[in-house]
Amino acid sequence: MIDLFSDTLTKPTPEMRRFMCEAEVGDEQKGEDPTVTLLQEMVAELLGKEAAVYLPSGTMCNEIAVKVHTRPGDEVLADRTSHLIHFEGGGPGLLSGVLMTPLDGDRGVFTGAQVRAGAHARSRYAPPTRLVSIENTSNLGGGRVWPLAAVQDVGAAARALGLATHMDGARLLNAVVASGTPARAYAGAVDSAWIDFSKGLGAPVGACLAGTRAFIEEAWRYKQALGGAMRQAGIIAAGGVYALRHHVDRLAQDHEHARILARGIADLPGIALDPAHVETNIVIFDVTAPGLTAAALADRLLADAQVRLSVMGERRLRAVTHLDVSRKQVEAAVEAMARALRRG
Ligand SMILES: *Cc1c(COP(=O)(O)O)cnc(C)c1O
Repeated sequence: MIDLFSDTLTKPTPEMRRFMCEAEVGDEQKGEDPTVTLLQEMVAELLGKEAAVYLPSGTMCNEIAVKVHTRPGDEVLADRTSHLIHFEGGGPGLLSGVLMTPLDGDRGVFTGAQVRAGAHARSRYAPPTRLVSIENTSNLGGGRVWPLAAVQDVGAAARALGLATHMDGARLLNAVVASGTPARAYAGAVDSAWIDFSKGLGAPVGACLAGTRAFIEEAWRYKQALGGAMRQAGIIAAGGVYALRHHVDRLAQDHEHARILARGIADLPGIALDPAHVETNIVIFDVTAPGLTAAALADRLLADAQVRLSVMGERRLRAVTHLDVSRKQVEAAVEAMARALRRG
């Protein structure tokens, strides 16, 4: 199987597993797990924030951040394609009682001007706009990297309006490796940010949310309330420690593999894709062959060549490169795609 479904599929390597087995542990909920504490310190340092909290998932990072930044009835601005809007079970409405207002970014990237235009002026009629969320890289935007200047532009616009800013950094380190922009420069332009360990970094569980000490203290309250506080979590947090030490620079390989895939399929008849849009490990493209839906092409690739992609729409497919996909497999996937399309 050549599994390009998602970078969430990555499995811990034997070395990571050994490191996890040997992790020192304690009661995480009491702040006594030395491995969790170490991981939190590493992430706070990486992102240039005062503090960080280890959470079971990136989704919980987003949901807790929204909860801390807002009050029920507030409005949150995020790109139309954002994970917060589409993939979190309606969490912002369910857990925080906020209104999500989508902005029309360009492949996930919007501007300070769009924030100014989208935010409601304070009035007795409008929902109070309170928070702006940036997703870097943008998942449904095809792994697009936010240029630092674009983050700073949105940050400045938000600050001028008195809005808080949050960065969904599920793949922030992909953005860092692709752009050369330090993580702390990105995170310095927003109030809160998090990274995921269970995507391209290859750890099995967890993410870390960072911000000011006061923000993280408040986040802890909701971590407890949502049942996200754990016990001997050092076993899983060690996967994150190992990933930050050994799996960051190698993300460049995933990006190279994504470029190979994009260049290989861009010219196939029946595919619409601009390879210049592939900046990190995500390749999103449209199926334009008459009479062939994205789902039908995906089924064909799986049945004929054991290549798995994810279907993102009637015509849209996504391939994600990661730790467990080799260059050879990517080249084989290109061949399989060409064969599948020749079948007409
Ligand atoms: C995967 C993802 C999340 C959620 O992370 P989980 O750890 O899977 O809960 C949030 N935002 C983006 C952009 C993602 O791709």
